Amino acid sequence: MPNVEILAVGSELLTPERVDTNSLWLTAQLNELGFEVTAKSIIGDHRDRLTLAFRQALASADVVISTGGLGPTEDDLTRDCAAEALGVPLDAVDSIWEDLQAKFSRLGRPIPENNRRQSLVLQGGEWLANPNGTAPGQWFFREGKVLVLLPGPPRELKPMFSNHVAERLRPLAGSNVLVRRTLKIYGLGESAMDELLAPLYGQHPGVSVTTLFTPLDLEVHLLASGATSEEGLLKVSPLEAAVREVLGLYVYGERVQSLAEVVGAQLLAAGKTLATAESITGGLVAQRVTEVAGSSGYFLGSFVTYSERLKSELLGVPEGMLAQYSAVSWPVAEAMAAGARSRTGADYALSLTGYAGPDGGTEEDPVGTVYLGLAGPKGVETKRVKFLGDRELVRSRAAQAALDWLRRALLEG
Ligand code: AMP
Ligand code: MG
Repeated sequence: MPNVEILAVGSELLTPERVDTNSLWLTAQLNELGFEVTAKSIIGDHRDRLTLAFRQALASADVVISTGGLGPTEDDLTRDCAAEALGVPLDAVDSIWEDLQAKFSRLGRPIPENNRRQSLVLQGGEWLANPNGTAPGQWFFREGKVLVLLPGPPRELKPMFSNHVAERLRPLAGSNVLVRRTLKIYGLGESAMDELLAPLYGQHPGVSVTTLFTPLDLEVHLLASGATSEEGLLKVSPLEAAVREVLGLYVYGERVQSLAEVVGAQLLAAGKTLATAESITGGLVAQRVTEVAGSSGYFLGSFVTYSERLKSELLGVPEGMLAQYSAVSWPVAEAMAAGARSRTGADYALSLTGYAGPDGGTEEDPVGTVYLGLAGPKGVETKRVKFLGDRELVRSRAAQAALDWLRRALLEG
């Protein structure tokens, strides 16, 4: 399988504020075409560093793809450095310059002389039209190796890759394709999961396994190559089945599915509705649920009851109960869920009350303690969960735990 190296160019990508997302998107496209990404790097806008990066990448990879640095300004060095690394000059292409002039005059703006840089093309290469911006891309092929220069903005790069680069790369792809299966897991720690899965790996040598830990859940990626996607799947499927068997209900979904999407699909299939009563999460569960298109088909709404007064007025939690047990307690979580269910007529209601910190909490219920309530056709249940992490993480994890609880309840029917 031919290998690809991606160079993400731009000093902004080396700051704490910006993330290189282009390479993730490109990797997915390349894998589908049958290329393996064997290296990627992020390089700032420095002439020597970037030239060296192109040299090294061209020495080791079959295909080198860069993104960014094709703009008109002084710090847009990709063209120059690629030319330097290849040892070819840049030719000015009149038709690019004419197109750019036409684009600017359509916008009623004078064209800065700087933009002339964007008409420079690697000698012997081809340029790729950019209908969504000013920087054309470039395709350069020599002695079985390919160099592709793509613009940085994702809305320019994606159509350029799909419309011009993919078809050019396809004939160079190996006869193999990569098949990836992703399972999403909730409720297990990373090492606990690894302990469960480790014995399986050796039994499926053709499949590579990666586990990914996010603040909210875990992902298991299974990857195999085959002459066709069917052949790849044939390798991956037995391991996937074994992983599902071992992890059981901890597996909640596949690929990029969110927990809220999975729960939404369950509610829709069962023809059931949901409401939430949120204190600690301030509407976060409702936010996750309504992020999913079509959630109006099962989600009735949320009570964001932060104060004791609103817990009583909107949800009917007795004032005496709040005084006796405090708002963060078993009975209040139960009363909140029951109140949300009865006052909305929803089939299920989730409630959350707890201490997000950094201050607050009690000796018995320290910061990170959350009481969850779930009211459903079979009655009301409550549970107490303790989460680690800062305020944001505790709230986020509480919302996820509530959704997972509902998922499991719906599986039981
Ligand atoms: P450039 O082509 O270097 O002028 O990049 C223009 C803009 O594209 C940058 O300011 C970023 O917002 C975006 N961009 C550049 N590289 C990337 C990348 N690797 N991933 C995501 N966005 C990028
Ligand atoms: Mg840049």
